[in-house]
Amino acid sequence: MPLAVQKFGGTSVADADRIRAVADHIARTRREGDDVVAVVSAMGKTTDDLLRLAGDVSSIRPGRELDMLLTSGERISMALLCMALAELGVAAASFTGSQAGIITDETHTKAKILEVRGDRLREALADGVVPVVAGFQGVSTARDVTTLGRGGSDTTAVALAAALGAARCEIYTDVSGVFTADPRIVPTARRLGRISFEEMLEIAATGGRVLSLRSVEFARNHHVPLHVRSSFTWEPGTWVIEEDPSMEQPIVSAVTSDTSEAKLTITKVPDRPGIAASLFRALADNNVNVDMIVQNTSHDGTTDISFTAPRSEMGVAMKVGEELGQRIGASELLLDEAVAQVSVVGAGMRTNPGVTATMFEALAAVGINIQMISTSPIRISCLVEASTADRAVRVLHEAFELDSPA
Ligand code: ASP
Ligand code: MG
Repeated sequence: MPLAVQKFGGTSVADADRIRAVADHIARTRREGDDVVAVVSAMGKTTDDLLRLAGDVSSIRPGRELDMLLTSGERISMALLCMALAELGVAAASFTGSQAGIITDETHTKAKILEVRGDRLREALADGVVPVVAGFQGVSTARDVTTLGRGGSDTTAVALAAALGAARCEIYTDVSGVFTADPRIVPTARRLGRISFEEMLEIAATGGRVLSLRSVEFARNHHVPLHVRSSFTWEPGTWVIEEDPSMEQPIVSAVTSDTSEAKLTITKVPDRPGIAASLFRALADNNVNVDMIVQNTSHDGTTDISFTAPRSEMGVAMKVGEELGQRIGASELLLDEAVAQVSVVGAGMRTNPGVTATMFEALAAVGINIQMISTSPIRISCLVEASTADRAVRVLHEAFELDSPA
C-alpha cells in the first residue's frame, strides 16, 4: 500500500473537536487504501505557553531542560489522537521522537537530524497499526531529548517520509495552500496548484510562513513530494515538487514581504581591502545572520556600508559595529528598524529578461523608494520603508498579473 505521512499543525489539533476531525481524516485515508503515519504538533499555542511558563520560573533555562519541557506538548497531542482513533476502531500507537528513532546532534533547542531509524514505525505499519509520532523532537547521540527548533514538526514529517519511502508528505495547516501573496494583504491572491522546491525555498526564506525553510530543504534533498493543505476544508492544496523541465515556468509565482529585519548603516568606513572582511567576519563570529548588503561608492577614501539582519540580532550587530568604529576611527552607526523586504519569486525569471525593470517601474509608479536590492537566479528583493510594504506587495501582485487565473 502506498504510504502517506500526514502532519497536523497546532491549529489542526487545537481542541477535542479538531483532534476528532483529524482522526476521521486518517481513518478515511486508510479506507481509501493508503497506509498512514501521522505526525502531530503541540495543541494550539501550547509551545508558546510552555516557553512563557519557563520564563516565569527562571531567567536561566538550560537547553536540555527547555527541550524536556517543550517536547511534552507534542506528547499530549499524540496520545489524544491515538485515543480518538481507537474510538473509530483504528488501531494506533503513539511514539515520541526518541521511540521513532529520530537521532539528532546535541544542539539543544535547534538540533539537526542525523539519522532516522524508524524500525518501530515499520513494525507498527506491518501490524496494521497507525503510528502517531510526536513532531519537533528527537534524541541526541548523548541520549538526551532534543527539539528541532520552532516549527520543527514539518521537518519531522519530511524526514519520516524520506526514511520510510512515503509516496507523499501532506502538511495540514489552517490555510489551504501556498498563495501568490498573503491573502490578508492581497484579497485577490490565488492558491497555487503546484510550485517547485526552489521557489518554495525562496518563498519560505522571504516571509512566506506556510512551511519551515528546513523542511523544504529536506524535502528537496530527499525528493519528497509535499502537499500543503487545510485541515479545516480538507480540499486539495498546493503541491511542492521537483521542477518539470518540459513545462514553461511562470515568470513570477509569488510576491512575499518580510518585516522581521532591520537595517544598520556604518558611515565613513575606510575604503581599503580588509575592512569589510573584518566587519562581516566579526558579525559571523557573533552569529549575526546578515542578509542584504550595500556598499556606497567612496568619497575621500571612506564609504558607507549598510546591511540588514534579523531585528532580534541588531543589538549584537550594533556592538560589533561600535567596536569596529573604535578601531578604524570616526564612524557612525545608523539603525533603521522601519524597513521591510518585498520580494518577487519565480523560476521563469531565469530565462525572461525585464523582471527587475517591471518590479522597479511598478514601485516607482506609486512613489515607493528602493533602499537596497538583492537577487538570486529566481528572486528579486527590494528593501522599502515598512509603512509602504503592503502597498508594494499589492502593486507587484498586479504588475505581474498574478490575480488573473493562470
Ligand atoms: N510545537 C512546535 C512549535 O510550535 C513545533 C511545531 O509546531 O512544528 O514550534
Ligand atoms: Mg506550529
